[in-house]
Amino acid sequence: MRPEEIMKQIKEHEGLSRRDALKMMALSPVAASVLASSALPATAEASASDAVGKIVIVGGGSGALMVLARLRRALSKPDITIIAPNEKHVYQPGQIFVAAGEYEPEDIIFDNTGYIGEDVTWIKDEVATFDPDNNKVTTKKGTVVAYDYMVVATGVQYHYEQIEGLSAEMLGKNGIASVYQSDLAEGTAEGATITRDWFNALKEAAKTSKPRVICTQPSTPLKCGGAPQKILYLSDDFLKRDKLTADFTFATAGEKLFSLPEIEAAIQKVQKGYGNITNKFGHELIRIDAEKKIATFHHKYQVQGEFDKEYNEYEMIDKEEEVSMEYDFIHITPPTAAVDAVADSLLAWQKGTAKGWLEVDRETLQHRRYKNVFGIGDVCGIPVGKTGGSARHQGPIVVGNLIAVMEKKEPALKFDGYTVCPLKVSYGKIIMAEFNYDGLAPSFPLDPAEPRWVWWMFDLYMLQPMYRYLMLNGLM
Ligand SMILES: Cc1cc2nc3c(=O)[nH]c(=O)nc-3n(C[C@H](O)[C@H](O)[C@H](O)COP(=O)(O)OP(=O)(O)OC[C@H]3O[C@@H](n4cnc5c(N)ncnc54)[C@H](O)[C@@H]3O)c2cc1C
Repeated sequence: MRPEEIMKQIKEHEGLSRRDALKMMALSPVAASVLASSALPATAEASASDAVGKIVIVGGGSGALMVLARLRRALSKPDITIIAPNEKHVYQPGQIFVAAGEYEPEDIIFDNTGYIGEDVTWIKDEVATFDPDNNKVTTKKGTVVAYDYMVVATGVQYHYEQIEGLSAEMLGKNGIASVYQSDLAEGTAEGATITRDWFNALKEAAKTSKPRVICTQPSTPLKCGGAPQKILYLSDDFLKRDKLTADFTFATAGEKLFSLPEIEAAIQKVQKGYGNITNKFGHELIRIDAEKKIATFHHKYQVQGEFDKEYNEYEMIDKEEEVSMEYDFIHITPPTAAVDAVADSLLAWQKGTAKGWLEVDRETLQHRRYKNVFGIGDVCGIPVGKTGGSARHQGPIVVGNLIAVMEKKEPALKFDGYTVCPLKVSYGKIIMAEFNYDGLAPSFPLDPAEPRWVWWMFDLYMLQPMYRYLMLNGLM
């Protein structure tokens, strides 16, 4: 099916039958890939480069594999080593669909080996220390690996232990879940099934009572910033579909539901439709009593003080307090940071709001101090949502600019800050919020604030195969 025809179908058929949509989805991966890749910036890889040098890629997730595939195609004599522990690859966006009962766990775990060609040296280990002054890294097992160029793609690390009384081992017990939990080195994503059990337990409880549910969001940068709300709305709708209900509280350290006003307004409308969600802004989860089921938050807020005649406005006074809430079920989004090896290294921003994250230029993705080092994906300390969608758009930039540096040229390609949040506001409806450094940046000429069934179908049925067969192979 041609892209224009897909667009026509989308416009005309918000009520398209499930069968026809599935047919459309099944027929359209090629068209979709054309559409999607046409949105990506030009890259130097179109013409093979004879540039030489030893490249080390650190990490084995989305960003690492996308860069690896593109570099192998772009270089006539690639000399690439990948340092990554994982033989299995987790399709992390699918963790939400497993939790919601739409996917099985095996739908989101792939074999990594097929993506790492035989011409690539694969060290199945993790980097313990980076020594960028001497162009080398040391792995946990003690192997020292030298490089001429390096791409860092180590993703993030969760810190459940920063919430007093909580540890990752407690997830799945006493009404506590977190869809995020995974062990990417082992290729497991236990948070997804834990949260699916949590959905079912919540439903059972709602048959005889009105459970109190809290979904939390911390103040740190997050992988898929929309995931805490995806769980909120899907679990609410999961009950609603069986005419059950609960009292939901969304306790977020932030001051709003979404960074963009258009999407914020759309979400407020969604929440109004549910009618059973209370937002608690400025609430950071700091402690949990799992036995008594009490969550304690650090609440920051402002109160109006005296009227200031000189400035013609009221003085606003900062306040803070501890607030405890009882719950029956709690979904926790963990505080998140760059992995220790990066955060503790010279490669990290040494101060400022991005402290601990990889210090790359937000456009070229080149390290600001170590010019032979690039970053891709969640590890980057740039003001953009941490998503696979971002990594996909960063791939051609990193490869093009890295090859430019290898060819002793200036890196000229610029990342525009693209990221995407397919916000699942109910079963069957997604707000597809795509944006970049400048604001909303929809790939399709459709109102991005409108919850649409077609995006649900696209996300549920098309994205996973597109990710698995096209994106990870650097083909889109
Ligand atoms: C619940 C959930 C829902 C999501 N939903 C979406 C969505 O709808 N859309 C979207 O675009 N994105 C979504 N994402 C985000 C997306 O999965 C990530 O942004 C993407 O995977 C980032 O790729 P990455 O390569 O930076 O990191 P990852 O894919 O996380 O890979 C990191 C890799 O680095 C390895 N590693 C870690 N430390 C070291 C070390 N010291 N040495 C060597 N290797 C190391 C790990 O083993 C892993 O292989 C979601 C994520 C989650 C958790």
